[in-house]
Amino acid sequence: MSEDTAAKKELAAIKGTRDILPGEVEKWQALEALARTTFELYGFRELRAPVFEATELFEKGSGATSDIVTKEMYTFTDKGGRSLTLRPEYTPSVVRAIVEHRLDLEGAPMRYYYMGPMFRYDKPQKGRYRQFHQVDIEVFGEKDAAVDAEIIEMAHALLGKLGVAGTETLVNSVGCRACRPAYSAALRQAAAARRADLCPDCQRKAETNPLRIFDCKVEACRTIAAAFPSIQDFLCQECRDHFRRLLACLDALGIPCRIDPRLVRGLDYYTKTTFEIVSSHLGAQNALLGGGRYDDMMKDFGGPDICGTGFAMGIERVLSMAEIAVPKRKTVYLAHLGEEARMAGLELARWLRSNGVECLVEYKDRGMKAHFGRANKLQADWVLIVGENEMKSGRFALKDMATGRQVDGPREELLALLRTN
Ligand code: AMP
Repeated sequence: MSEDTAAKKELAAIKGTRDILPGEVEKWQALEALARTTFELYGFRELRAPVFEATELFEKGSGATSDIVTKEMYTFTDKGGRSLTLRPEYTPSVVRAIVEHRLDLEGAPMRYYYMGPMFRYDKPQKGRYRQFHQVDIEVFGEKDAAVDAEIIEMAHALLGKLGVAGTETLVNSVGCRACRPAYSAALRQAAAARRADLCPDCQRKAETNPLRIFDCKVEACRTIAAAFPSIQDFLCQECRDHFRRLLACLDALGIPCRIDPRLVRGLDYYTKTTFEIVSSHLGAQNALLGGGRYDDMMKDFGGPDICGTGFAMGIERVLSMAEIAVPKRKTVYLAHLGEEARMAGLELARWLRSNGVECLVEYKDRGMKAHFGRANKLQADWVLIVGENEMKSGRFALKDMATGRQVDGPREELLALLRTN
């Protein structure tokens, strides 16, 4: 390995993380802008929480038996001896913020959205990163199953605007504290009967939280779990009614869905509704977004008894399927000839920018031919020439690089031309 390659390797981005460079970042910006405008139409407002939190927030929120907490957290001790964790998901942070600031007392709709990085120490592969990005939305204090349907519809509206096609919506109910214990017991029994065929991890889960067996990625365990009892047969009346209403609302909204009784999702806090929007184009990591209802989390945090529902969408995965046309920017390359012209050029660039025109100023002294060569390389759309004559006359030459057409005129006229092209 050459010294250069070794140095590059040493300084490379950490495994499972990646740079989002100009050229690609425009798609991220377009997605973020569309998400913002879409969510605000449904009454959501942005809530930004810190990237790291006390470790126990996630232990308590995401659930002590979830894969995220048991295997995937980026946890470290800071210089003050506190155990902190880079957030693996967003929901516990919003719940904490609501309790901390008593947002429930403000009277505004408790509908929040957020976009940003999440961190999970999972095995990196296609569609799975260690630092990945989510768009997250949460609704609090709205119990009706219609709200679960409304946010699923909102997810579809956003995916539609992003040109994501060929998705499937999966829904399920994971019951509540009243009906889930009987289901867990039935699962435990079913798992005990197949214990020897399950992976060691699932053998452990069978004892701690048998629902988590459905998260297992081992093919043999998945086949076995497919024959386990279905939660749908264990739902209490309230959960069954909620689920029926969800299906009716989705139907009214024209959203086809498939009931998947194994959809328990990887986190411990869900109650009643769970859902995912998946795509067969994504390969093994097929979920574009997932979410559900979590009616007990706020209360369990010692806050008020306020229910919640929401989803998190993976930006990387959605972008891999999105059809976003990014409009090409129009740039003016400002070519000056001589020191005095450079000063005048600086002022002209300031004026153009203040009028919304993107301007690149070349500070290096160049002849006219070299300026054009450079402008070409930078893929500028226009070259604006500032020389002694132009300064004296107050008329500047503007060349359209695509057509070769050149016009001259006072700066106001050129601005009008730039704005209409
Ligand atoms: P979750 O928080 O696990 O319900 O995930 C919600 C969404 O985030 C998933 O549907 C994915 O689109 C995305 N996601 C989750 N984990 C990762 C990861 N490690 N890398 C990339 N995207 C992820």
